[in-house]
Amino acid sequence: RRRRLLPYRNLPSVTADGASVELAANIGSPLDAEAAADNGAEGVGLFRTEFLYMQHDALPGEDEQFEAYKSVALRFHGRPVVVRTLDVGGDKELKALPLPKEDNPFLGVRAIRLCLNRKDLFRTQLRALLRASVYGTIKIMFPMIATLAEWREARALLDAAAGELRREGVPVPDRLEAGIMVEVPSAAVLADLFAKEVDFFSIGTNDLVQYVMAADRMNPELARLNDPFHPAVLRLIRGVVEAARREGKRVGMCGEMAGNPLAVPLLLGLGLDEFSMSAGSILPVRALISRLNRSEMSRLAEEALKLDDPDAIRSLILRAVPGLA
Ligand code: PEP
Ligand code: MG
Repeated sequence: RRRRLLPYRNLPSVTADGASVELAANIGSPLDAEAAADNGAEGVGLFRTEFLYMQHDALPGEDEQFEAYKSVALRFHGRPVVVRTLDVGGDKELKALPLPKEDNPFLGVRAIRLCLNRKDLFRTQLRALLRASVYGTIKIMFPMIATLAEWREARALLDAAAGELRREGVPVPDRLEAGIMVEVPSAAVLADLFAKEVDFFSIGTNDLVQYVMAADRMNPELARLNDPFHPAVLRLIRGVVEAARREGKRVGMCGEMAGNPLAVPLLLGLGLDEFSMSAGSILPVRALISRLNRSEMSRLAEEALKLDDPDAIRSLILRAVPGLA
């Protein structure tokens, strides 16, 4: 199978009717960047930076982070590398940063909430990212954004860090693209407002599904609820893509759904620009996309969004796209 897919490694991701999308990789360390590039990733759609913070007993300093971000930026030769700022707190513990126990960690002081409380920590990461961004195309992405105020504060802190570095004589780009993960339902509902201010969206379906359905993503008992094909989830995705479109902003997805062959026809039809997934999924998804028509998939998505049941939606896709199962 790998042999059959190899020709797709150096090909662009284009549908049979000529629509281009971007297939990027989710990575968790500079080492993963190698596997991503080997598998034909056109960029990095999600660089989870937690590894830097979880591997030691001490918090990583600015220089250590700079080296990690720089190596990934260089590896991708100017192709976009979307780096997500620290997403810990709640259930993910850091030895170097003891956090108070919470009754509902997934609804607690997590990700951007923690970073806005601990600006010292956030500033170190932003400075490292800004310094690394002259070695390639780094885009910064803030996780768990729920309100416009959080986004604006994060963006302002990024701009402040850039100003600080410039005054120190450190080269930083004139403007750095920054966007948000859409993984909290409030952000999806307010996507029209966010789209006016951010540079891009990336839909994080792993968390978005759990929050929309109020079902713990780790609990196998709730698998029926934790379903990205649920019409409630699909309507939100459609709304986010349309909001981005209207403002001319790019919209990607970095949740597991983006690499699911059954979801790809639907997401293509909804108008997603970038699909970010684990390295091993890239070639199969590129091969799949090459035999789909975007125009047909738009009609398929329209039909799918009229249905009220996830299984019916899956059956519709399986009937429309032969050879998927
Ligand atoms: C998501 O929530 O969909 C996502 C990509 O982030 P993580 O899985 O790291 O929470
Ligand atoms: Mg998430």
